[in-house]
Amino acid sequence: DAPASPTTTLAANDPHDFKRRGVLFVLSSPSGAGKSTIARKLLGADDEIGMSVSYTTRPIRPGEVDGKDYHFVDLETFRDMVAKGEFLEWAHVFDHRYGTPKAQVWNELEQGRDILFDIDWQGAQQLHQLAGGDVVRVFILPPSMPILRERLERRATDSMVVINARMARAANEVSHWDGYDYVLVNDDVEHCFACVQTILAAERLKRSRQTGIIGFIRKLLR
Ligand code: 5GP
Repeated sequence: DAPASPTTTLAANDPHDFKRRGVLFVLSSPSGAGKSTIARKLLGADDEIGMSVSYTTRPIRPGEVDGKDYHFVDLETFRDMVAKGEFLEWAHVFDHRYGTPKAQVWNELEQGRDILFDIDWQGAQQLHQLAGGDVVRVFILPPSMPILRERLERRATDSMVVINARMARAANEVSHWDGYDYVLVNDDVEHCFACVQTILAAERLKRSRQTGIIGFIRKLLR
């Protein structure tokens, strides 16, 4: 089950070497708003955070890798996992099911890494109910709806029917912006990425996460 107090070590070269609580870092956005690009950049640039790979019943898209982008499973397997309580949270998104597996999340936390979640507002809400203060929720907005459509069309992985459905859903997603701690507009991916890094850096430094700093402070005051 869940470790009582997820902790993660600061950078290996940190002279103080104290522990802090891990961050459950949620990135949500309507699809096409650039969230995947930002998630990829963050994972590439930051060794202290790992990705939670969800299970989904949706078909694999060209270029996706099973086990890396998602674990692609059939409905029966997914239902079976729900029945066995193997998901931290799961939700219907579009016509498919998506769920966050418990095992991988605990595993990452035990190895001392923060975890990045690319999940929708329903998942963010459920995770927040479960893990409260350990969760940081970031919502990424597109600069405009026409630009969002353009990005989805340029991606060319979905049919027009699917794109229309995603656009209809985007407005609904955006209406849940107030369930997040931070809201960003992705009109420039580098700037948006820098903001995401800033948020994560500040959250890691919060006093409430610096569970191990007390020893260091005692030494300072000795
Ligand atoms: P896509 O099919 O475009 O990869 O993802 C569709 C939506 O499902 C995205 O908004 C994504 O964030 C969300 N999603 C992916 N995995 C999960 C999950 O495990 N739980 C929840 N609640 N949403 C997810």
